[in-house]
Amino acid sequence: MPDDTVLLDTVIPRTLDAIVAEFLDPAWRGGRLEAWVFEGGAARRAAELALQARGITACVRSAYKPLVHALLDEIEAGPVVIGVPSHPLGPEGRFRLEAYPLAGLRGDVAFDGAGGELSYSVTSGPATTQVFAPNRVRVDHLGRRVLAPCGWVRAWRAGDPAPARDAAVETEYEAVFQAVMSAVAAHPWGDAMPTMDTLEIVVAIPGIERALAWHDEVMSTREALHEDLYFSLLEFFQHRAGRAAGDRTLRPGQIIPEIVASDGPAHVRVTLAPHRVTPDVAADAGDLDIIERPLTAGEIATALASLGGEGFAHRSVQGRAILGVHRRGARPNIAIIAGQHANETSGVVGALRAARRLVAETDMEFAVVPQDNPDGYALHHRLRARNPRHMHHAARYTALGDDLESRTAPPFHEKAARMEAIERTGARLHLNLHGYPAHEWTRPLTGYLPRGFEMWSIPKGFFLILRHRPGLGGAAEPFLRALTARLAEDAALRDFNAAQLRVWRAHAGAPNFPMFDGIPCMIAEREDQGTAFQLITEYPDETIYGDAFRLAHTTQMRTVLYAAELVRRGMLGT
Ligand SMILES: [Zn+2]
Repeated sequence: MPDDTVLLDTVIPRTLDAIVAEFLDPAWRGGRLEAWVFEGGAARRAAELALQARGITACVRSAYKPLVHALLDEIEAGPVVIGVPSHPLGPEGRFRLEAYPLAGLRGDVAFDGAGGELSYSVTSGPATTQVFAPNRVRVDHLGRRVLAPCGWVRAWRAGDPAPARDAAVETEYEAVFQAVMSAVAAHPWGDAMPTMDTLEIVVAIPGIERALAWHDEVMSTREALHEDLYFSLLEFFQHRAGRAAGDRTLRPGQIIPEIVASDGPAHVRVTLAPHRVTPDVAADAGDLDIIERPLTAGEIATALASLGGEGFAHRSVQGRAILGVHRRGARPNIAIIAGQHANETSGVVGALRAARRLVAETDMEFAVVPQDNPDGYALHHRLRARNPRHMHHAARYTALGDDLESRTAPPFHEKAARMEAIERTGARLHLNLHGYPAHEWTRPLTGYLPRGFEMWSIPKGFFLILRHRPGLGGAAEPFLRALTARLAEDAALRDFNAAQLRVWRAHAGAPNFPMFDGIPCMIAEREDQGTAFQLITEYPDETIYGDAFRLAHTTQMRTVLYAAELVRRGMLGT
């Protein structure tokens, strides 16, 4: 096995330590300091106390989501009206989204009017407070000017009403990101595809990990760093290859940021490494109806084998098995595929539960591939071990770095399994079970909103997308209306969707999609649609466990079963 190639291995000093050291200087005694850093509350309080002990009045705030922190920590409860910042480089709606999930945390928040260029105005009764949102303009790896959250120091010397310092500071959080991007940009990459096996980025860094009392919400600077590094590096390779940002066909290899907690300086190590594959361990998960966490690969294989039927298998890029089962029977029929994006895990359980019910209760023909991206799934399992509540988009695509659905020419690798499932059954309907982030998704180093996925930055409940071949549109809406009527019989799902959509509207504005029975539904005619119809489910499942995970996979299962019933009744033709 070839040795790893180290692209970067460095330590970056902790900004909070540097600020404390600087302001302990006797020249600042009697003065006042306000600072904004990417640090959790305990570390910020400790810094304030250390400075106060030496005669400096200090207030150290979060540079990440400063308004949410201010309303949790500093501003008295009571109805508030918020004016959002309006900056020429801040995209429409960004700062209202950044205020998420205040409308969920408190029922007395309204957004009205504008704040300053980089400040929110918070009006409560007769008093209006300005909440500073430190941001700086950066030029990113695509050469675009972006407005990005940053560290900041504002300080007054004793007796001087004007601040002696009022400027952005480069925190270790920002420096780590820039160091990784620079190290990757400086490497002499060849033109071959895939460009590498794996690009591993391990960062140990202090930060914020603050759970909020709203659904699955967690404010996490480490999760955000994973997301920004992963998508920024993908964009770097896309740009280098002359592709558009967000292109899903490029095959750079597997990009793996792993961000772990530290209580000291930041350590960052970037290496090129060969694929590492550990064997799956066969296991029985027991009763899938009550499972409260994603299944292991071994548990998926065991549950699939218990269905009977004809098995089929393909190989992933890293050599793992992609397993399917074909049960022969009555037509019209369906193909059930889950796990294309491997960090979306509720569809895997839902597919297996639905298949078991179809075997037990019907004579319907179907094929099921419960997990069709096993390399991504193995990476997700590995990353969850250290950060179980991070969304880990590095596990979304395949080990080649592409989206398996986008492959249009052989070798198809992972896509071959779903192709065989559809070919074996001649399925009328392809059920494609997906998920998406269950809490806010951000990219704070490149403009805050997730580029290309801006409308997915906060959850909006369970929703459906129905794609159909040209000429079949007439069946789409009646099918979705019948399906959602059945799904909405579940009060827990109804309440869940209503709550998420209420808060989504408060932060994202009026919905631009139709809703049937409280479930957003989108219909799309596609020339390239293979089966006559494809139903894509989207449950906000990334990072959820326990009862929330059970509602997710139960909803996935119910969708498959009700859709199967409507197909059997001929609602999508024969
Ligand atoms: Zn997906």
